[in-house]
Amino acid sequence: MHFEIVERSLLARIARIVLKSTNVAMVLGKTVHLSGVDKDTFLNDEGWVAHELCHIRQFQEHGYFRFLWLYLQESMRVGYYNNKYEVEARVAGMKHRKLINPSHKAAVAVTPSDLPLPADKKERK
Ligand SMILES: [Zn+2]
Repeated sequence: MHFEIVERSLLARIARIVLKSTNVAMVLGKTVHLSGVDKDTFLNDEGWVAHELCHIRQFQEHGYFRFLWLYLQESMRVGYYNNKYEVEARVAGMKHRKLINPSHKAAVAVTPSDLPLPADKKERK
């Protein structure tokens, strides 16, 4: 899948400040905006990449503005964690794992933020 990465993204940085998070990956269209994490670290995290690539596919599937609107509506309806676009991305991010025990699950967990955007944070141990 074709995608681009912007490191030290201003948009992701703003999201990070709002969220008081150490890192944020935010997808807009075909671009993953990163803040608090560099490109290599991100790309080496297979589960995280799979999660964000799923959001890129969602943008392609629904169209740029339509997807932002659908995402917002879904979050208002069921909350960020249960947002079906986040659920789908979470499943995609777990697929590369054959066995998931609870500690592994925590280590690979990507948490959706409480922004009305597909912006995710990753808790680092
Ligand atoms: Zn997500």
